[in-house]
Amino acid sequence: MIEIRGDYYDGHQSLRHPVVLRFDESRVQILGLETEISFALSEVNFADRLGDLPRSIDFPDGASCETHDNDAVDQVVAQLTSSALGSASSKKLFFGRVLHLVESRWHYLALLLLITAAVVFGFVRYVVPVAAKDLAAALPVSTDRKLGDGLLESLDGTVMQPTKITQAKRNRLHQRFAKMTAQVDPAFKFRLEFRASPSMGANAIALPNGTIIVTDGLMQLSRHEDEVIAVLAHEIGHVVHRHGLRHAIQSSVVSLAVPLLTGDIFSVATLAAGLPTALLEAKYSRDFETEADQYALNFMRSHQLNPRHFANILQRLSAGPEDEKPEPTARVFSYLESHPETQIRIVRFLRE
Ligand SMILES: [Zn+2]
Repeated sequence: MIEIRGDYYDGHQSLRHPVVLRFDESRVQILGLETEISFALSEVNFADRLGDLPRSIDFPDGASCETHDNDAVDQVVAQLTSSALGSASSKKLFFGRVLHLVESRWHYLALLLLITAAVVFGFVRYVVPVAAKDLAAALPVSTDRKLGDGLLESLDGTVMQPTKITQAKRNRLHQRFAKMTAQVDPAFKFRLEFRASPSMGANAIALPNGTIIVTDGLMQLSRHEDEVIAVLAHEIGHVVHRHGLRHAIQSSVVSLAVPLLTGDIFSVATLAAGLPTALLEAKYSRDFETEADQYALNFMRSHQLNPRHFANILQRLSAGPEDEKPEPTARVFSYLESHPETQIRIVRFLRE
């Protein structure tokens, strides 16, 4: 506490009142007047020191005080300044802490995002396919048939036209196809169809109900009947392994479970989760292609057919039509997936 003697002027009259100013850390008390007055130091103005001239201390109500005790005023001002600096530096410290917290939290959030993406990726990549396979196995084959029914009709109305392949060629393949599917579970209703489809090019697709469609383009591309047989074996593989149903299950699980896994954390995580899902969409079909290829290979080996026929037509398919320039987007064996939005997907898929 500092006390300074001085002369008080009320700001209205030139009357001088000898007073004592008592300073503590935050306030000044004016002692010696009829009534006791006090002000917060933040409202008080101290005139700059000019040598040893009397110094004015101005109060917010218009009153002021003059004093010769310059050293004492300097002391008060010094104390005020240091406490002001003190509060400034503590503010700085506070913001520093906040900033640090935010920074460390960002690291934490980034890590959380990464973990979320990894968990979702693992879930979608490894857990969902196994679960879907088990679930498909528990469902009767009639489920697959329901998925595929009506698809051929909608294809006929959109991207497919009647075949121009000769009856004789088709008959031979129908006979071989019947033998190929005779040993397979009779719950699948296999059916071979030929269609002309300029938009699909050289292609073969298997519907989940066991209908396999071969395009005229594929027939024209083949140089040996066993090449078509190999393709048919591959498509039968898709049906037998129930890829349509499994894909439908996988897609549903992913679209339902991923938002459940991540949606409540924050929306960025959902975005991060969308990425592996999109990447895996392609991986699903690659896994299915491998399974179908394996089925075809086993079939050819067990029927003394040369697997080279399969490789040959695959090579020609990936090279694109001979007399046209190769289409990089042409799918080798476009596998028509069954899905709630089948109609839309069919058209989009076939136009790729
Ligand atoms: Zn395939």
